Parts: sequence; structure tokens; C-alpha cells
Amino acid sequence: MMPNIRDYIRSIADFPHEGIIFRDVTTLFADARGFRMAIDQLLHPYAGIPIDKVVGLEARGFILGGALAHQLSTGFVPIRKKGKLPGAVISEAYQLEYGEAVMEVHDDALKPGERVLIVDDLLATGGTAEAGIKLCRRLGAEVIGCAFVIDLPELGGRAKLEQMQMPVHVLTSFE
Ligand code: 5GP
Repeated sequence: MMPNIRDYIRSIADFPHEGIIFRDVTTLFADARGFRMAIDQLLHPYAGIPIDKVVGLEARGFILGGALAHQLSTGFVPIRKKGKLPGAVISEAYQLEYGEAVMEVHDDALKPGERVLIVDDLLATGGTAEAGIKLCRRLGAEVIGCAFVIDLPELGGRAKLEQMQMPVHVLTSFE
């Protein structure tokens, strides 16, 4: 039987804190068939749709985004945590469970009107992706969708992004 994407995702209890089950995609990325299946399934809804750039969210979004960009023959743009990008940046702060985080993009990384696909490994509260969408929109780009391997629907990220009129594509979800 054809394996399911979930079969490649490892769950690790009490990481990074007690009571959290971390969904580990390194086992998916390390498996030749698993990784290829993930890239193929992430791309499926976008066949035939024009996309100018793939935008990956640090850090696992870079691994997926590089492969997606290569497959689509587009460029790749990283959105990184504060202080990592060397050139002039724009920034977006967002709320974490405790405190605040900041994501950044080079201020010349996207051109007005470019159609972008945002990718990350996992959608939880949606704060990271929302910051990414805002950064792309501030540069004048049109975000045509956000794609994730995993959704944690109880944390409400998908609902949050759909409220921003953002089409969301996920491969699997965990309660
Ligand atoms: P959010 O901003 O949606 O609350 O959190 C999503 C971000 O946290 C993503 O960048 C994702 O990589 C990371 N993340 C949170 N929990 C997990 C997890 O259990 N597994 C993985 N692989 N990433 C996680």
C-alpha cells in the first residue's frame, strides 16, 4: 500500500517543553520517497497557476521552499528571524505564547505585483505565517497561498489565515 505522509512524521513527547508533542519532520525530509511525496503534494493545487517566487519561513520552510522553487523554476526568498539577514530589511512582530518574535525580509526581495507562494513545515497559531504574509504584502507582492505539511487545527492558525482571505493548503493534521 502507498505510504501516507503521516507515516514519515515522528512525534516526540515533551519537546521543547513538558506537555508539548513536537511533530518532527526531519524523518520525512530524510526519506527519499517521503520527501518527494511531500514536495509533490505541496505543489498539487498550484499546477498551472502562475507563481513568480516561493517564500520560505525559517527554518524548515527553507528546505521545502528550495525544493518547491526548483520544481516550479522560480526564485526563492527567505523570511528570517530578526537579525539574520545581511541587507536592508522590513520587520513584522508577532505574539508568541510568552513574549514576542520578529520576522524579517530583505526590502528588495519581492517586486510589486509578484505572485508568491509561502511555505512552512507546520501551521500552529498562524502567527509566523501571518507575519510572513504581511511582509510580502508590504513589499507589494500578491500572496496566492500558504502551504504547510502539518496543521494543528486546535491552535486556530488555519482559521486565522482564512480570515485574511488566504487560501491554505495542508497535507495532514494532528489533534
Ligand atoms: P505558529 O506561528 O503557527 O504558532 O507556529 C508555527 C511555527 O512554529 C513554524 O515555523 C513551525 O516550524 C514551528 N513549530 C511549532 N511547533 C512545531 C512542531 O511541533 N513541529 C515542527 N516541526 N515545527 C513546529
